[in-house]
Amino acid sequence: MSGRESTDRYFHEAADMMGLSANMQRLLLTPERQVKVQVAMKMDNGEIATFIGFRVQHNKARGPLKGGLRYHPEVDEDEVLSLATLMTWKTALVNIPYGGAKGGIQVDVRKLNPSELERLTRRFVDEIHDVIGPDKDIPAPDMGTNAQVMAWIMNQYEKYHGFNPACVTGKPVELHGADGREEATGRGVGLLTISLLEKMSEDLNGARIVIQGFGNVGTFAARYLFERGAKIVAVGDAFGAIRNPDGLNVPDLIEYVTKQGSVKEYPESEPVSAEELLLQECEVLIPAAVGGVLTKENAPHVRAKYIIEAANNPTHPEADDIFEERNIIVLPDILANAGGVTVSYFEWVQNRQHFRWDLDRVRDELDRKMSEAFARTWDLATTKKVNLRLAAYLLGIGRVGRATALGGI
Ligand code: NAD
Repeated sequence: MSGRESTDRYFHEAADMMGLSANMQRLLLTPERQVKVQVAMKMDNGEIATFIGFRVQHNKARGPLKGGLRYHPEVDEDEVLSLATLMTWKTALVNIPYGGAKGGIQVDVRKLNPSELERLTRRFVDEIHDVIGPDKDIPAPDMGTNAQVMAWIMNQYEKYHGFNPACVTGKPVELHGADGREEATGRGVGLLTISLLEKMSEDLNGARIVIQGFGNVGTFAARYLFERGAKIVAVGDAFGAIRNPDGLNVPDLIEYVTKQGSVKEYPESEPVSAEELLLQECEVLIPAAVGGVLTKENAPHVRAKYIIEAANNPTHPEADDIFEERNIIVLPDILANAGGVTVSYFEWVQNRQHFRWDLDRVRDELDRKMSEAFARTWDLATTKKVNLRLAAYLLGIGRVGRATALGGI
């Protein structure tokens, strides 16, 4: 089942429950615009390389389109569309005035040097600058992209449209970025992990956590939870996975990864296979890498009590059903990882007001938004006797549906 079939299934389940007509469901699922462009560039060795770039603009009923930009070899149109729809429900769920979009380039960034990465990014902006912008569609970092890439996007966009820092978020703090944006998704994941454990009367102190993916989201979530007493017992990335049942020293591990590029062969640990990582006995499993990693094959063997979806779309619907039968609680992606887009919104607000917030204000506002969305989702799940994913979709789709109906066609 593709990522899009998964997200569509969750949508239809919620929309049917809300009694939305078939026509309304079709309207809400159909993307408003899909852009697919050739990104051709000269590599440093003089050869011409051709990449394919995508931007899918799903729904702007509640405001300008918003969504990350992913550089990954497996990026395709279907995946980008599914991620764009997730952004629509996510921005509505945390109640920020945006619609949903997503973009990507099919590329293995490990094979590019920094000047090639910069040229690739600038060429992509050349192709899409007329469909993005501060009131149209605002990209942000995702897998394979970072603050530096966002700085190049801003700079290239400004060559066409003049000074416009709000055209992209996740920029470096020294260049119109927001304090707290880099840590925001991981912080939100950590915060809501604690909220869920509290609701379930579980002790955070010593709670065993396993994290797949040790990039931006995985490292900040690990640090947040480690600092508050949880025990990070296993982590993995694209190159390998490790475990230490006594708990990993997270700050030291992050320092190691910064130097070595991977968690692989970290001294205070033993290796585990990528598949075993997901099957470790623990209280909380946090997939924070790619989509589709929890499947009907491995779901029966997962030994976690809670799954916090830091990655987008990590769980196949069949696996979701198995987790429900096994009473494993899943905190869905559109809620768990919404911290990033929330602070992106704060960055956009600061850029437009030319007024910088300090880190304490960013963190306070983020924690408030995330806690509010969690509380509403939890309460709806309890009242309607549905799981957290369905409750989150009901809230998100409900808000987009009402905005669409009020605005009219
Ligand atoms: P990143 O590129 O910083 O890190 C990704 C990590 O996953 C790296 O450690 C990489 O080695 C690992 N990885 C990649 N492929 C893997 C595989 N097949 N198996 C195991 N590990 C693998 O990316 P990120 O920004 O941390 O994003 C991670 C996930 O979180 C993505 O699904 C992304 O869509 C989602 N997300 C990110 C943000 C954000 O603000 N960065 C916001 C919302 C959602």
